[in-house]
Amino acid sequence: MTVMPMKVGVARETAAGERRVALVPEALGKLTAAGLEVLVEAGAGAGALIPDQAFADAGASIVSTADLYAASDVILRVQKPSADEVTRLRSGQTVIGLLTPLLDAGLMDTLATAGVTAVSLDAIPRTLSRAQTMDALSSQANTGGYKAVLIAANAYGRYFPLLTTAAGTAKPANVLILGIGVAGLQAIGTARRLGAVVSAYDVRPETAEQAQSLGAKFVRLKTAIDATGAGGYARELTAEERAAQQADLNEVIASQDVVITTAQVPGRKPPRLVTADAVHAMRPGSVIVDMAASALGGNCELSQAGETVVTENGVTIIAPENLPASMPLSASQFYARNISSLLLNMVKDGQLTFDFEEEVTRATVIAHGGAVVSEPVQKLLAPAGGPA
Ligand code: NAD
Repeated sequence: MTVMPMKVGVARETAAGERRVALVPEALGKLTAAGLEVLVEAGAGAGALIPDQAFADAGASIVSTADLYAASDVILRVQKPSADEVTRLRSGQTVIGLLTPLLDAGLMDTLATAGVTAVSLDAIPRTLSRAQTMDALSSQANTGGYKAVLIAANAYGRYFPLLTTAAGTAKPANVLILGIGVAGLQAIGTARRLGAVVSAYDVRPETAEQAQSLGAKFVRLKTAIDATGAGGYARELTAEERAAQQADLNEVIASQDVVITTAQVPGRKPPRLVTADAVHAMRPGSVIVDMAASALGGNCELSQAGETVVTENGVTIIAPENLPASMPLSASQFYARNISSLLLNMVKDGQLTFDFEEEVTRATVIAHGGAVVSEPVQKLLAPAGGPA
């Protein structure tokens, strides 16, 4: 019996402002070599300025939206499907993307009920070294950290480097990075390459050495806090720790020209690190880029997600919502590598095979066989007080 090659569809992203695409032409080779056939929804690469022809030249078939959803066994995407796209998915199909299952458990339930298998890249076990090529949270945070510094430099009315010219000397900018995770480390490196004097702070003490190795000064507050949580993440601070941190941080922030905030705590609102008082104590012309800003709030009390505000004392606060989408080519190239690695990890003899004994499959498959199979998502869906 001849087995039909599995069809992998690449969806066109429809979320507002999204310019990335789940696969780039260079990434097709590995999939076709594994016996997969690739379908690309017409216009899927447009936001990243990748023409359909480039996908076709790499061996893909360009198809209409209706054909993509009708013919694909697996659909690759960046963001979760829209309500309209959900209705197009059918039983037996698999969708892979950054589905944010912990923020939208209801969608996972809908997909499960429709018989769709949902696989989410943001559920990858990040400390597993073999999963690093699949770590889209890291690859996208990396592009975000880089772009945040460029945005800050662009909004700052002075030089970043020390510059001596016949017309005078420019002092280097003092840049503070708050949160030294993946985005923060890339921000440190980028600000250093632009010649700024960089300091950085995080509640996980192990980050001190990482920041210093990239040329930043690690800010030690008077009150030592170790908020190392599970899996390399931070835990939420206690009220006392927060108050002590705030008082110390306010002093440091007041002397900065640029502050870039990247601090997150999984499953919680981003911690408030830059208060309105701290902003008011900054010099006119200073710039804050709040990478943590979303509808949930941000690291800066005065930031408004998706907006740029200039305070009365002349501080510009920028709160971009989707920085990776503003670097669509690089972000898509990295993402394509991540999603292909995850997909190929689940392909045996050219067909999708879910081995729930395998750690990455167990963690990333959220819905399968008509049910939500991810325990953390099941817990979110369980009625309060009822069985999990
Ligand atoms: P994240 O986006 O969850 O948070 C960004 C940073 O904010 C973290 O460093 C966190 O400690 C910091 N933070 C939280 N609350 C804070 C506060 N009140 N004040 C100051 N800083 C605060 O983190 P991330 O960038 O996704 O990754 C965090 C860590 O995950 C990594 O640094 C690493 O340890 C781990 N990780 C490991 C691997 C691996 O082992 N392969 C891969 C990726 C990430």
